[in-house]
Amino acid sequence: LVAVDHLAKSFGAHEVLKDISFTVEPGTVTCVIGPSGSGKTTLLRSLDALEIPDAGVVRVGDCTVDFGEIHPGPKRRLDRRTRELLATLRSKSGMVFQAHNLFAHRTVLQNLLEGPVVVQGEPVAQATERARRLLDEVGLSAHVDKYPFQLSGGQQQRVGIARALALRPQVVLFDEPTSALDPELVGEVLGVMKTLAAEGWTMVVVTHELRFARQVADQVLFIDEGLVVERGTPEQVIGDPQQARTKAFLRRIM
Ligand code: ATP
Repeated sequence: LVAVDHLAKSFGAHEVLKDISFTVEPGTVTCVIGPSGSGKTTLLRSLDALEIPDAGVVRVGDCTVDFGEIHPGPKRRLDRRTRELLATLRSKSGMVFQAHNLFAHRTVLQNLLEGPVVVQGEPVAQATERARRLLDEVGLSAHVDKYPFQLSGGQQQRVGIARALALRPQVVLFDEPTSALDPELVGEVLGVMKTLAAEGWTMVVVTHELRFARQVADQVLFIDEGLVVERGTPEQVIGDPQQARTKAFLRRIM
């Protein structure tokens, strides 16, 4: 479903992603772990075309983008064909950010309708029905008409997850979804993510939650200095790491 091939991205002279390749099978969970600054967020943003890598190929479903063929013009201008291609790639995935990024002046329900109705032109009734179902699934049916400020951090993040799902993405990308939460709120968000995994959503999760990765991931990628240092099942990468860098990282955070 997702295939990343020789992805590379620099910011100025800083090579943040050097050479990243992996695949994600439909209905599986991939957890990406690694030290701060190793390029995890940049990788996730590249899958969603929020960053434009310098080289490499990203495929999500039936959309393939060869970033080596994309040459931004002056002021990073992209031609219309490229912009449309990137919009197609973006439409395949839903992103859940570290901090939820909800629209502050819209209710919970309106937050979920914005993308499907305003951006994708879906009929309101249909989008509303799905939004209510998703809010029920993340345990927020009692809060559909509230505004984000009336919710706890954990509830806001669950709205953020439901909002990503409302766009019917083929893959859901999570960028450290619990790292901005108070410790007592982490569990409810991870619980929702576990449910989604069990339902068969395809997920790529950047996380420091090793326990979650062990319980839920089908595949773990350990990334360091822009390279996939180790890749395998959680039992392999977290339980029995082979590389010195993986061992050192796990020792530091366990
Ligand atoms: P963390 O766990 O701390 O979130 P990370 O592994 O997600 O780290 P990235 O956020 O991908 O790492 O950042 C990797 C490196 O790229 C960092 O050194 C960061 O400062 C740099 N970087 C990221 N985005 C930009 C940007 N837009 N311009 C310049 N440098 C950037």
